[in-house]
Amino acid sequence: RAKEEGRNQVQFFLEQMQEHADHRQQIEERLREAIEKDRLYVSYQPLVRGAGKIVGAEALLRWPDGENGLINPSAFIPIAEMTDLICCLGNWVLTEVCRQMAEWEAQGRVLVVSVNISPREFQQENFVEQVQEVVISTGVRADCLVFELTEGVLLTNVDKVRNKMRRLSELGIRFSLDDFGTGYSSLQYLKQLPINTLKIDQSFVRDITTDSNDAAIVATIIAMARSLDIDVVAEGVEKKEELAYLIKCGCTLFQGFYFSRPVRAKRMASLIPSKQQDQVCEVQIQTLPT
Ligand code: C2E
Ligand code: MG
Ligand code: MG
Ligand code: MG
Repeated sequence: RAKEEGRNQVQFFLEQMQEHADHRQQIEERLREAIEKDRLYVSYQPLVRGAGKIVGAEALLRWPDGENGLINPSAFIPIAEMTDLICCLGNWVLTEVCRQMAEWEAQGRVLVVSVNISPREFQQENFVEQVQEVVISTGVRADCLVFELTEGVLLTNVDKVRNKMRRLSELGIRFSLDDFGTGYSSLQYLKQLPINTLKIDQSFVRDITTDSNDAAIVATIIAMARSLDIDVVAEGVEKKEELAYLIKCGCTLFQGFYFSRPVRAKRMASLIPSKQQDQVCEVQIQTLPT
């Protein structure tokens, strides 16, 4: 009896695993098709200093799907990350962002844009060469590019990582450590690697006004970053009270729905004023309706 039940359970799990595998494979196939047919696009979320000056933007991949509307990156990025598909995707995003930045720049709109780089992408043997090629072919100002890495990247050989970061830095690219606090946050890395900015994960920011632990963690990260002379961005700021607390802690850079949701490139362009070519501009934004 028990044996039979056990067998049934095994059968059940096997079926579930198969379903997961099918689902994964389906997403993968449709994603490949979407890349091929040029259906993906990039949205930009303003990065804001103080009360509302735009000092940059984060590029976020969007996958519109006929029937289902937008498919959330958290539903497909992790799947793409299981294979080399993420490398193909990442290269597409980087190329598209650089092309867009170069187009804006030609209009006198200079904006610092950060791009998310998955560990697997970064770990490619020829990653630096790929980036170099995109920079050259698009003519983008590499000193306006920021790569957002997660702590996952840092789990591998630190010397190798540092070496790659150094070579990219020589091109003018800067680095942000994304989702800080959720991974294997080690202060060691912060000292050893050329990281300019920490982004405090939104899961901490979300509860700062209700959870005293999160409030303390956020205050500590901000203080630590400041003492190490690293910029710190609070992600996922949605409410005035959250902003007030972050400001009190000494945080000056923000990203979140309170200021703006990610917007299409055209809308983003309208938020960057036309200025002198070699001046990175800062613009006063109104709080956008969400
Ligand atoms: P992330 O890099 O931490 O990006 C920030 C995410 O937080 C974005 O979600 C953004 O829309 C969302 N967000 C910003 N402000 C708020 C807020 O006030 N409230 C809430 N609830 N959310 C806010 P999105 O666009 O869904 O992307 C999710 C994740 O997918 C990203 O997290 C990143 O890890 C990954 N991702 C997105 N685009 C790319 C890409 O081009 N390449 C790679 N490798 N990963 C990407
Ligand atoms: Mg990011
Ligand atoms: Mg993040
Ligand atoms: Mg993330």
